[in-house]
Amino acid sequence: MKNTERNCVVIGGGIAGLTASIYLARAGLSVTLIEKTKTIGGRAKTEVMDGSYVNLGPHALYSKGKSLEILAELGISPKGNSPAIGGKVFYNDSPYNLPANPFSVLTSDLFSWRGKMELLRFFILLQTKKLKSNREISVDQWLHENIKDERVQKFILMLIRLSSYCNDPDRLRAEVAFKQLQLGKAIYVHNGWQSIIEELKEKAEKLGVIIQAGASVQQIKGKFPQFEVKLSNNKSIFTPYILSTASPNELRKFLQGYEIDAINELIPVRAACLDIVLNKTPNPTVSFALSMDQPLYFSNHSNVATLSDNQSHSVIHVMKYLSINEPRTDLKQELEQFLSRVQPGWEKHVISKRYLPNITVTNSMMKKQKNEMEQIPGLFIAGDWVGAEGMLVDSSFFSAKQAAMSIIELNEKMGV
Ligand SMILES: Cc1cc2nc3c(=O)[nH]c(=O)nc-3n(C[C@H](O)[C@H](O)[C@H](O)COP(=O)(O)OP(=O)(O)OC[C@H]3O[C@@H](n4cnc5c(N)ncnc54)[C@H](O)[C@@H]3O)c2cc1C
Repeated sequence: MKNTERNCVVIGGGIAGLTASIYLARAGLSVTLIEKTKTIGGRAKTEVMDGSYVNLGPHALYSKGKSLEILAELGISPKGNSPAIGGKVFYNDSPYNLPANPFSVLTSDLFSWRGKMELLRFFILLQTKKLKSNREISVDQWLHENIKDERVQKFILMLIRLSSYCNDPDRLRAEVAFKQLQLGKAIYVHNGWQSIIEELKEKAEKLGVIIQAGASVQQIKGKFPQFEVKLSNNKSIFTPYILSTASPNELRKFLQGYEIDAINELIPVRAACLDIVLNKTPNPTVSFALSMDQPLYFSNHSNVATLSDNQSHSVIHVMKYLSINEPRTDLKQELEQFLSRVQPGWEKHVISKRYLPNITVTNSMMKKQKNEMEQIPGLFIAGDWVGAEGMLVDSSFFSAKQAAMSIIELNEKMGV
C-alpha cells in the first residue's frame, strides 16, 4: 500500500492520537498520524526551560484513573511519585494547615465542631462510595441541599476544583465531581508528561505508524470507504477510516461541507497558569497550597518528581481555575500575588517563567459525544470531550481506545 493510501488516518498527535494509533497498528492496520504543530504531544507537551522539564501547567495522573490502566495495556508504566497529602489552605486571607486525614480534621482551627463532623461524614461517604446524587444535580445544588456549614461547602468546592480543574459548580454534575474525588492519589511524572509521549511515539513507530508532524488537516472530502484527507502541504491521503482527536472547533473547520448536527453543550474548562523555575524556594516548608477564597493553586512539583537536571532547582506551578464567565483580564498579577503569599521573595530566585493566560484544560466537562460521527460513517472522534468515561486525560485515553476498537471491529466486518 502506498503512503498516500492508508487503512486509517489519525488526526492529532497528543495522548489520544498516539494511543489510538498503537491500538490500530497492533490490529494490523496501516496508520498515518497527522499533527499540525512541529512537535507532537498536544497539551501533554513538556517544555525544557533552562534544564528543567515544565509541563503546560500542573499535570498529574490519578492512581485509580483509566490512564494508568490503558498505559499498562500498552506496556508503559510512567515513573513518578505521589505528593504527601498536606500543605496550606487560605481562608479569609489567613493560612491554615490543610486538613488531610481524620485526625487533622478534628484538630483543625479551620472548622467549627459541627463543621468537622459534617466534613468527616462527607469523607466517609466518599470513601465508601455511598454519596448519593441524582444524575442531573449540580455540585452547587448538592452542596446547598446536603452541607449546612458554609466553610465545609467552600472546602469541598476547593477539593472538587483540585481534582476536576472545573470552577463552574453550577454546571458540573455532582456525580461526575464525586467520581473525580475517588480517583486515588495524584502522581507527578519524572521529566514531565513528555516522557509518556515519547514512549507512546516509540511504540507507535515500532508498529509502523507514520507520524507526520508540521502539516495540518485542512479538509476532508468524500465518504466511506474512500475519504480524501487534504493537508496543508497540498498533499492528500486516501483512506476508508478517519479518527480525529482534534478539538471540536478544529473538527468543525475541516468538516465544512458535511451535514453535521452542531456539536452542542460543550463547556470547556480553562485555566490561567504561571509556570516558574526557581533556583531556591524561599519557604521550603510549603510545597502545596490552595485557596478557599479564590480558585487558586500552588504546587512545587520538584518536591515530588525529578524535573530538573540541577537538583536544587524547583518547578513551580501557580494556577487560577477559570469559570466560563471569567472576564478576559490579565491574571498574571493575581497569580504572582498568590505566589508571594506562599513563597515571599520568590522574584529573586527566578530562572525561567512562562505565563499561559487562558489555556484549555479540557474541551468539555459534559461529555455526550459518541465515538462515531453518525452522519459520516467511517469518521470517528476521540479526546477529552468524547465518551462516557472519566474526565481530563482519562477520557482522552479511554475514548481513543474505544474509537480504535470500533474501527477495528468495523473493518473486520466490512473487510475493506
Ligand atoms: C493547564 C493544564 C493542566 C492539566 N492538568 C491535567 C491533570 O492534572 N490531569 C489530567 O488528567 N489532565 C490534565 N490536563 C488535561 C490533559 O493535558 C489533556 O486532557 C490531554 O493532554 C488531551 O490530550 P488529547 O490528545 O485528547 O488532546 P490534545 O493534546 O489537545 O491533542 C490534539 C492534537 O491535535 C492537533 N490538531 C488539531 N487540529 C489539527 C489539524 N487540523 N490537523 C492536524 N492536527 C491537529 C493539535 O495540535 C494537538 O496536538 C491538563 C491540561 C492543561 C492545559
